Amino acid sequence: MTTVDPARTETAAAPPVVDAAKSRKVAEEARESGWDRPSFAKELFLGRFRLDLIHPYPAGDPEVARRGEEFLDKLRVFCETIDGHRIERESKIPDEVIDGFRQLGAFGMKIPTEYGGLGLSHVYYNRALMLAGSANASIGALLSAHQSIGVPQPIKLFGTDEQKREFLPRCTRQISAFLLTEPDVGSDPARLSTTAVPGEDGESYTLNGVKLWTTNGVLADLLVVMARVPRSEGHRGGITAFVVEAGAPGITVENRNAFMGLRGIENGVTRMHDVVVPARNRIGREGEGLKIALTTLNTGRLSLPALCAGAAKWSLKIAREWANEREQWGRKVGEHEAVGSKIAYIAAGAFALESVLELSGQLADEDRNDIRIEAALAKLYSSEMAWLIADELVQIRGGRGYETAESLAARGERGVPAEQLLRDLRINRIFEGSTEIMHLLIAREAVDTHLSVAGDIIDPKADTGRKAKAAARAGGFYARWLPSLAVGKGQVPGGYGEFGPLAEHLRYVERASRKLARQTFYGMSRWQGRLEHRQVFLGRIVDIGAELFAMSASCVRALSLRDSRGESAVELADAFCEQARRRVDELFARLWHNSDDRDRTLASKVLDGSYTWLEEGVLDASIDGPWIADASHGETSRPDVRRRLPG
Ligand SMILES: Cc1cc2nc3c(=O)[nH]c(=O)nc-3n(C[C@H](O)[C@H](O)[C@H](O)COP(=O)(O)OP(=O)(O)OC[C@H]3O[C@@H](n4cnc5c(N)ncnc54)[C@H](O)[C@@H]3O)c2cc1C
Repeated sequence: MTTVDPARTETAAAPPVVDAAKSRKVAEEARESGWDRPSFAKELFLGRFRLDLIHPYPAGDPEVARRGEEFLDKLRVFCETIDGHRIERESKIPDEVIDGFRQLGAFGMKIPTEYGGLGLSHVYYNRALMLAGSANASIGALLSAHQSIGVPQPIKLFGTDEQKREFLPRCTRQISAFLLTEPDVGSDPARLSTTAVPGEDGESYTLNGVKLWTTNGVLADLLVVMARVPRSEGHRGGITAFVVEAGAPGITVENRNAFMGLRGIENGVTRMHDVVVPARNRIGREGEGLKIALTTLNTGRLSLPALCAGAAKWSLKIAREWANEREQWGRKVGEHEAVGSKIAYIAAGAFALESVLELSGQLADEDRNDIRIEAALAKLYSSEMAWLIADELVQIRGGRGYETAESLAARGERGVPAEQLLRDLRINRIFEGSTEIMHLLIAREAVDTHLSVAGDIIDPKADTGRKAKAAARAGGFYARWLPSLAVGKGQVPGGYGEFGPLAEHLRYVERASRKLARQTFYGMSRWQGRLEHRQVFLGRIVDIGAELFAMSASCVRALSLRDSRGESAVELADAFCEQARRRVDELFARLWHNSDDRDRTLASKVLDGSYTWLEEGVLDASIDGPWIADASHGETSRPDVRRRLPG
């Protein structure tokens, strides 16, 4: 039993008091701190280009591939029957489509066969998502919210045998949702106010709270709910994960939310009022909820890259077909250089996004490397790049890019949903870790080694003894590490020669990796503990790492495709690397030559109202209301809008 200081015992009713230090502490505690397997990306940020960790390209198990291909064939046949435009029009995935996925086993793609699932590998799960998401993006969201963040994955990773037996077979047929966000809790889980109060008999918890933006929450049967257990005698407390029956008494879906895109998703506001959950439904221990969520995302984060890679591939097809067809100013539009450069960007980007996805998936399947940084980089990079690709597609389509598919079809043209793609993709830069949060999360991992050797030097709370020890440790580490950044294989003419025309790009990656490590070190030396507030600097460091990872993935995959695709994969990788190198050079230059200081001053003056005169002359068409809805606990006063599926 834990002994608890009664003065520090939290009450269930008290909302958490949160400052920046508390938010940081909660995030830090949720972080997996150990590294028991090598990480290509972690090494990359440290200036060590460990090509051996990703090359030769992982081959995968042929039997797994056979089963995966068999499933993809069936999935394709089914997806071809789906009317994606109807989903868009009716803002709803029809019951029969959901049932079709159920019959195919698509809700249990990653669930092991012993529990009735398909037991697909990460690679094939990702390919299946890419395919299904291309029928309609809301289908991608339905399948991935259930399987990447919903009940199956945390139960598979952290559940007891009993929980696995109880929930995994159900998850092959039923839909689940993941409920973390609340009106006042977005990127900062320290503010979480949903409570789970343990019953005196130790057999149950009572949940109270309001959860926002629950993808699948409107039609789910099972929910993973993050709730705060108050600390008390016998309870270590903290944010904890529970499996909750969506139909339990006290649960009301108060609203179905509507968005710019993903019109078919069933995303709700879920109120829990005195919902009794058996203690056996707790996943892991009390206080481990966020760690479980983050670990689940280590591979779960690859779902969005799958959907983004699919979007890029479709964009390439449409761009090619349209730009070959449409003639203006005496030429096909694709032959105008300005359009051609966009097509080149889309083609190179599509190849890179698929390479990042496939490589990360293969590494996850092999379980040889730690891929938490790679998956995070993949999420960040793919969501940003797919958005830019979709924007270029809309531009290439001209006015038709802005017109809806239904309108195009109504006046007798091919109903290409390019504007829908742009709308559907936009959220990927916000959910499952916004770009800004991904920058911070990856930057934290990029500087992890430095913090572990030298962190106490800059920690204001460290006493002189700790600082002295850290200084000695850091002296030893940096005496070895800094000289290692001066030379490398990237300077050797002919290095990585087996990559043919791609060798020069790998030499560039090797040199850039060492430069990146040096620049990170300069940043740390210059700003020390204040570095964490240099978010734009850190963002550029991470973006450089993401480009270098994408270049590496593209080169090794291109080589592995040589037999099946000849030189064309090498050409795509070559083009992508050329483009990426320009971006990396620019990001390096902007590390130290930028308008960051001026922008910071400007932003703070904007925030203090110095320029409100600039906002004059326009109306604010917003509907009146508070910025953040009241999420007080209590009984609902609204009707339940839960969608009950037949069967
Ligand atoms: C369609 C949709 C589906 C969703 N599905 C789910 C779901 O299934 N389950 C679930 O739990 N949640 C879900 N969410 C919530 C989603 O994960 C959050 O929107 C996301 O975490 C961001 O939180 P927020 O919107 O409250 O933004 P905020 O946290 O309020 O952030 C606002 C802005 O500030 C930036 N910001 C915040 N903190 C920092 C910082 N420390 N440094 C720099 N910048 C910062 C953010 O990047 C953002 O640009 C969904 C949201 C949407 C719109």
